[in-house]
Amino acid sequence: MSSPSPAASLPSYQQAADLVAGFAAQRAQRRPPVERIELTASAGRVLAQPIRADQDQPPFARSTRDGFACRAAEASKHEALRFAGSTHAGQAPAGPLPNGAAWEIMTGAPVPAGADAVVMIEHVEVSGGEVRLLPGRKLKRGENIVAQGAQARTGDELLPVGSAITFAQIALAATCGCSTLDVFARPRVAVLTTGDELVPVGSAPAAGQIRNSNAPMLAAMVAAAGGDPWVLPTAADNDESLNGALTQAAQADMVLISGGVSAGKFDLVEPALARIGARFHFTGVRMQPGKPLVFGELPGSSAGSVPFFGLPGNPVSSAVTFLLFAAPVLGALAGTRKRGPSFALARLAAETDRRNKPGLTRFLPAFCKFNPPAGQLPEVAIVPWQGSGDLAALARSNCFLVIPEETSSFPAGEIVRILLF
Ligand code: AMP
Ligand code: MG
Repeated sequence: MSSPSPAASLPSYQQAADLVAGFAAQRAQRRPPVERIELTASAGRVLAQPIRADQDQPPFARSTRDGFACRAAEASKHEALRFAGSTHAGQAPAGPLPNGAAWEIMTGAPVPAGADAVVMIEHVEVSGGEVRLLPGRKLKRGENIVAQGAQARTGDELLPVGSAITFAQIALAATCGCSTLDVFARPRVAVLTTGDELVPVGSAPAAGQIRNSNAPMLAAMVAAAGGDPWVLPTAADNDESLNGALTQAAQADMVLISGGVSAGKFDLVEPALARIGARFHFTGVRMQPGKPLVFGELPGSSAGSVPFFGLPGNPVSSAVTFLLFAAPVLGALAGTRKRGPSFALARLAAETDRRNKPGLTRFLPAFCKFNPPAGQLPEVAIVPWQGSGDLAALARSNCFLVIPEETSSFPAGEIVRILLF
C-alpha cells in the first residue's frame, strides 16, 4: 500500500478536489446535532435555525439625521415653517404634523405622522420658533427617512440555516430578539501526529528530535474551520502504536493523521489504516507540496463512516492539504453552507522560478498586498522558502500562489490565482 505511485496514475489536484467536494456535498445532507448557546458566545458557530425578522425593520419610520421633519413640498418653497414639536431617539412616534409646520427630530427618532422628509439641521435657518430651508437647497420626499419595513418585513427569513456566525450575524440576531441561538454541534476532529522524531512543544528536543508543530497547527486550523479539535498523543512509527492510536481516533467524527504517508520504510500509516478497514478514495495527488495526501473513510459507529485524511508530515504540506481538502469536508460535517477553499486573483510581482516540476499543481507560500490602487488587482509575491518544512516562510505568508500543472513558470505581471487563508 505504501509503495510510491507513479505521478501520472494519481488524480490531478482538480480531480481530487472535485472528488472531495462531491463527498462533502453528500455528507452535508445529514444535519449535525443541534445545541442552544448564548448569542454572545456564538461567534464562529453555524446557525441551525433560520433568523427571521420578529418585527418590521426598522420598526418605525426612522430619521437618519438630526434636523426637522416636514413636508418636502412645503419646505422646498423656502417658506418659514413653525415648530410643532420635538422627538428624540427613544420616544414614541408622535404627530400628526400640522400643515406649514416642522418638527424637531434627532437621529434614530420616529418620524411624526404626516412628515415625508427630514431636513438636516445644517440645511436650515432657525429663528424665532421657525425654520426655513436655506436658499439654493431642495428637499425630496423620503430624504433622510428609512421607511418602516424598508430593510425587512415581519417574518422575512434574514439568514438561512447553515450561515456562519460572525459579528454581523450576531448584530442581526440581536435586533431580531434572539438572546440564544440554535447552532450545530461542532464535529470532533481527531488530530493524530505520527513520528518517532517528535516531542511535545513543552519538551526539549534531544539530538535528532524536533518539536511537534503540526499538532497545535492542525488544532488551530480545525477550530478555525468549525471543528472541535481532539489532539491525541503522538503515535510512534510502528504498527502497534499506530493500530492503537488509529482505533482510538476513529471514535471521532473525522480523523486527521499527520505524517507517515510517504513512501519511506517508516511510513506505516496506510497499511495501519487498511488493517482497521479503511476505504481509500485516493492515495496521492498530482500536487506539490502535498503529493502523498491520502483520503478515505473508516468504518464508524451508527452515524456512518468517519472521513480521514492522511496529511503529509511536512508542515507546509499539512497546512495546504488541510485548507484544500480537509477544510471542505469539515465544513460539511459542521453544517456550514460555505465549504470550498477561497481563491482570488492577483497580479504577480516577479517572475516565478523556472525550475518547477511540470505535471504537478504547485502551491507556493506567498504574500498578497490587499490594498491595490482603485481599479487594479492586488499584488502577490512569492515568499522565499526552503521547501515544505519552512515554517518561518509559512508564517510570513498570507496565501498560496497556485501554479497549474501545465505551467512551468509565470512572468512578472501575470494575473494568477491565489489560495487565501
Ligand atoms: P513524514 O510525512 O512523516 O515523512 O514527515 C515528513 C517531514 O515532516 C519530516 O521531516 C518530519 O520530521 C516532519 N514532520 C512530520 N510530522 C511533523 C510534525 N507533527 N511536526 C513537525 N514536523 C513534522
Ligand atoms: Mg514520519
